[in-house]
Amino acid sequence: MSASVLELEKADEPTTGRDLKSQPPKAGTDRRIRWDYVVFFVSLHIVTLLVFVPYFFTWIGVAAFIAGVIVFGQLAIPIGYHRLLAHKSFRCPKWFERTLVTFAMCAAQETPAQWVAWHRRHHVHSDEQDDPHTPRVTFLWAHVNWLVYESRSRLQTFSMFEKFARDVLSDPYYRWIEKLPSPAGVFFFAHAAIYTAIAALIAVAWYGFDAEALRVTSSVVLWGVVARTVWVWHITWSVNSLSHVFGYQNYDTGDDSRNNWFVSLLTAGEGWHNNHHADPSSASVQHRWWELDPNYYVIRLFGVLGLATDIIRPRDQRKRNKT
Ligand SMILES: [Zn+2]
Ligand SMILES: [Zn+2]
Repeated sequence: MSASVLELEKADEPTTGRDLKSQPPKAGTDRRIRWDYVVFFVSLHIVTLLVFVPYFFTWIGVAAFIAGVIVFGQLAIPIGYHRLLAHKSFRCPKWFERTLVTFAMCAAQETPAQWVAWHRRHHVHSDEQDDPHTPRVTFLWAHVNWLVYESRSRLQTFSMFEKFARDVLSDPYYRWIEKLPSPAGVFFFAHAAIYTAIAALIAVAWYGFDAEALRVTSSVVLWGVVARTVWVWHITWSVNSLSHVFGYQNYDTGDDSRNNWFVSLLTAGEGWHNNHHADPSSASVQHRWWELDPNYYVIRLFGVLGLATDIIRPRDQRKRNKT
């Protein structure tokens, strides 16, 4: 692959970034709140507090949480939505891409077209006025508030999808998702129901119709669905907030992106965000030996298994190969 979609978009953009940085971002001027998002976010956070109630603690619940973080918080969002769909840093069979997207939808983080459009817009306008989630507004804005204010929906126009996510919407499955009423809600509650049914079946098979079966089922749903979803929200949002405020820069990218080891630890590599902004096409964000990027190792594993091809190497390796 010669150049990523993002690089092509960047080439089309007028280079007005430096001027815009001197002005406060305009995001958030409209303060109408999306109450459906607020109710959903707050409800799941409140239910998550039940993890501190001993009744709901089981090791199978904890195992469901860890497995869920790997599937939804690593394979689906950082690898599926981010490195595959948004940056096209590798290719894979369509069925596999759609599987990753389906898991990502269960993480209740917007549709593929919206996620990709917002993220590409972030790269093109990083920490400028048109960045949807720069911490230059406030830290909380970058972390979550940008999602719950109505102002962002004004930008969700056809032209934005046309500009930033046309390739995503060329897939009929992703177009179908886009047309669903409350797509994230549909996928989230559907997958929660599947979790509940499977957990209940296994628990009843093991314990019979016993109070312990109810406790184990509740534990799996609480830890494996609700708490895991909240956890994956926060680790994803931390890339937008923490990694644009705290950390160091290997590159003068002209934005506030930072390499943050803590976020990298939580997200299996996404926290090396300044490296990523410097070379967004690359499937790897590991630019120093100790800036470990497990998400990239998984992509390489996909390659070994025949599930990933055209894996884009870091820029210095690409240059070396050309010479
Ligand atoms: Zn960024
Ligand atoms: Zn990116």
